[in-house]
Amino acid sequence: MLMIANWKMNMTRGEIATYLDSLSGEDRWKIWRDRGIRLFLCPPYPYLDYLGGQCRSRNLPIGIMAQNMCAFEKGAYTGEVSAAMLKDLAVDGVLLGHSERRLYFGETDGAIAEKAARALSSALVPVVCFGETRQERDLGQCAAVWSRQVGPVWERVTKCREEGVRTPVYWAYEPVWAIGTGRTADLGDIREVASHLRKTFGEDCASGLLYGGSVNDESVSGLYEKGTVHGFLVGGAFLEAETVLRVFDRLFGHP
Ligand code: PEP
Repeated sequence: MLMIANWKMNMTRGEIATYLDSLSGEDRWKIWRDRGIRLFLCPPYPYLDYLGGQCRSRNLPIGIMAQNMCAFEKGAYTGEVSAAMLKDLAVDGVLLGHSERRLYFGETDGAIAEKAARALSSALVPVVCFGETRQERDLGQCAAVWSRQVGPVWERVTKCREEGVRTPVYWAYEPVWAIGTGRTADLGDIREVASHLRKTFGEDCASGLLYGGSVNDESVSGLYEKGTVHGFLVGGAFLEAETVLRVFDRLFGHP
């Protein structure tokens, strides 16, 4: 299980230290990690190094992911951050194709596929976000949207596998209408996505499905199903360390 906190453009060094102070009060992190349950924090770029160092010095077995990455290897790309730089900072993975990146920064399905290929070949775990808008749902276009967004990435994943690259890939189903709105999809919707991925791209593709969109400590239990949901991507609710702890407690209980 992957539990991922997308902090978006939030948090400062002081707030990060306070957040980690709260997480450090919990003594079950190593037990959870040994059971395959991992928490990953995705801070803004400037704090990747600081956060990683803080987690290591506090012996917190918590992973770090970036919120984005450049598809190009290196060179004259002002303002961009490469896969090699993320690896250099001991970052574990990277969110790709978040709907805010698609909407505000014009990221296309093709560009996201390029980034995913770069991440895979750099041994950075890509977490590829996809999901329909409210309007696309109302027009009955969900399946077409999922295929359009996942297809080009899956093609690159398949090619990387043929070349011997074994880095895992995860898919975060994040319906745009559920992000930051307080409305979630339901388990039936998530099962439909899993079944679509399985039928269209094969069993392998559906085996790393996460859900994101207004998950919190109230909604999380009803959105989880073993074998279907392999983790959650959480924005607003995971800006509070206390909510992270409540969600872990609710889902994974006392080992
Ligand atoms: C997100 O932005 O990835 C997200 C899931 O946000 P929220 O949990 O706030 O809906």
